[in-house]
Amino acid sequence: MNILILGSGGREHSLAWAVLQNPKCDKLIVAPGNAGIAAIADCATFDINDGAAVVGFVDENNIDFVIIGPEAPLAAGVGDDLRAAGVLVFGPSKAAATLEASKAFTKEICDAANAPTAAYGHFTDAASARAYLADHPAPIVIKADGLAAGKGVIIAETDDEALAAVDTMFDGTFGDAGAEVVIEEFMDGEEASFFVLCDGDTVLPIGTAQDHKRVGDGDTGPNTGGMGAYSPAPVLTDEIAERALAEIIRPTMAEMAKRGTPYQGVLYAGLMIKDGAPRLVEYNARFGDPECQVLMMRLGAQAFDLMHAAAEGRLNEARVNWAEDHAVTVVMAARGYPGNYDKGSVIKGLDALPEDSRNMVFHAGTTTQDGAITAVGGRVLNVTARGDTLAEAQARAYEMVEAIDWPGGFYRRDIGWRALS
Ligand code: ATP
Repeated sequence: MNILILGSGGREHSLAWAVLQNPKCDKLIVAPGNAGIAAIADCATFDINDGAAVVGFVDENNIDFVIIGPEAPLAAGVGDDLRAAGVLVFGPSKAAATLEASKAFTKEICDAANAPTAAYGHFTDAASARAYLADHPAPIVIKADGLAAGKGVIIAETDDEALAAVDTMFDGTFGDAGAEVVIEEFMDGEEASFFVLCDGDTVLPIGTAQDHKRVGDGDTGPNTGGMGAYSPAPVLTDEIAERALAEIIRPTMAEMAKRGTPYQGVLYAGLMIKDGAPRLVEYNARFGDPECQVLMMRLGAQAFDLMHAAAEGRLNEARVNWAEDHAVTVVMAARGYPGNYDKGSVIKGLDALPEDSRNMVFHAGTTTQDGAITAVGGRVLNVTARGDTLAEAQARAYEMVEAIDWPGGFYRRDIGWRALS
């Protein structure tokens, strides 16, 4: 089978790595890819958010199956364009991806599906949002409705901060994403991510993870796209996972199908867990990055069969071959990230590292310049290891990190601390 993966991050490198292990893959192309992906697959450059360009490339290259990695092509409707052209695709339609693209939509679906989540109000003007705050004191959460790359959520500790956050949302700081605002009850608890595949009907769990969003050790400093992750997440016990499926995820999928917009692809549920009960924080319509890297490390070649079964509507026949293993990924980022950072520093020592089913350095913001692997992004490498215990996986990941010679980079030294403490 000829396969095309859209995207260029560590997420897509791990997807490519898993897909290539499956003998059903005859040829793999990744667009646009990065230096790590280019070492294992062909890379192509075209606008992956332009449905016509993607369909044209698929036709010219006899692609049988497309896997969409990031949210932008999903929100642009690339999945719909491919399906309209008769191409098999893993990833939801634009309408189904609204579960990520609009927070107000997700809250409304939760109401209809009776799924536990934070109490909320939905506003299109500042005056009514401010009036709601008068009856709902801090701590409280103010969210821009649309996609804001993780920056559209303000957790207000005081009433004044909440009022200021509402004014910021409506003054255009978040563009169209902030034209509508959701104000939510602050939920206390421990957060974890639950990943399931859906084919419009059947829901199949494929793993749990926790990530570390803050830039500094001990979860301090500014938020980032994610500085590391591990799987499984011990807080998401089998019992809580079962409750999340029964109370939140399956009712959401049934509601989407009932509305004529069935969901096909991976659904990433961000959950808040307290006193043994899960509540929904958010949905994402794609794999998390870096959570995907630890899931792929654990699933290996079967990841392809599962995604293919989801795309073909055969998840009722699919089974996950679970292992009692653990995976950790440590993100190495360019110094300065998530603020301004330099581009162009050279990374050495990667050739000497093992690349096998238990050890892998997935690339994110890298390119090859004059034969050298060079950093060109904020998050640059995802050093990933698998072990029989979390402690073993963590130790192996850090052994590899320390063998990498990259003075321009930094990393957190405590990925996995919550689960290990
Ligand atoms: P964006 O749309 O800007 O990309 P996002 O999709 O990452 O943002 P959310 O996941 O809804 O936004 O919120 C980001 C983080 O804020 C969550 O991971 C969680 O830590 C925190 N958060 C969001 N809502 C709540 C809530 N109601 N109570 C407590 N914490 C919350």
